Amino acid sequence: APALRIRDLRKTYDNGVQALKGVSLDVQPGDFYALLGPNGAGKSTLIGIVSSLVNKSAGEVSVSGIDLATRRDEAMRQIGLVPQEINFNLFEKPLDILVNYAGFYGVPRAQALVRAEEELRSAFLWDKAKVMSRTLSGGMKRRLMIARAMMTRPRLLILDEPTAGVDIEIRRGMWSTLREINAAGTTIILTTHYLEEAENLCRNLAIIDRGVIVEQGPMKALLAKL
Ligand code: ADP
Ligand code: ADP
Repeated sequence: APALRIRDLRKTYDNGVQALKGVSLDVQPGDFYALLGPNGAGKSTLIGIVSSLVNKSAGEVSVSGIDLATRRDEAMRQIGLVPQEINFNLFEKPLDILVNYAGFYGVPRAQALVRAEEELRSAFLWDKAKVMSRTLSGGMKRRLMIARAMMTRPRLLILDEPTAGVDIEIRRGMWSTLREINAAGTTIILTTHYLEEAENLCRNLAIIDRGVIVEQGPMKALLAKL
């Protein structure tokens, strides 16, 4: 089954805005997939629906063959989400943030501690495990959010504009972190409005504009058209 399968997804917000007007896409296991589009295109709405934060108006979503509408909790266990805004407690330590997050998702404490060390090391944050997270740099905070999402060992990692507003150094560091995660077997989907980011990272992509997918396919084929 595809890592993510979306059919004719529609979303109309209460104020009448049609954010998604019938979106269909498949993301295969192991893929690195970008959803590229300008502000207001509907990217966050799509990610919000897939991660169960936003209710869809119509359509179907399944994660690794698990239907989101009928088997929500099971589908959610396949997903790691990295939101756009930094949303951890700045007065907690990175180690505690990771261990508590895993605990919330039912990972036993001893296992959570082992995983937290592993994830902090891969994020180059092990030496920061016990500092107050508010003292971390912007790039470190972003990497901590990725490490946190990986604590549940998701099959599918979803990132909403992971590098929006960060400088090129930090962006490059995050790109290499994401490439490593994908190389280790995790399917990745990210939203971005930087063509350069999609070009650097992804194998396949969809271009979305005003709630409609306007192009879809391998990055290479798309670049050849431009
Ligand atoms: P993107 O992530 O590509 O910038 P969004 O999904 O955030 O796009 O937004 C798509 C459209 O839906 C925009 O017109 C936006 O103003 C509108 N929108 C987003 N969230 C809401 C909301 N909670 N209520 C009403 N309209 C919204
Ligand atoms: P910031 O996120 O504030 O820019 P850095 O990206 O410089 O911080 O990361 C802090 C430390 O982690 C640095 O010493 C850097 O060498 C190391 N580091 C970060 N990303 C990588 C990477 N992809 N490969 C090797 N070392 C890295």
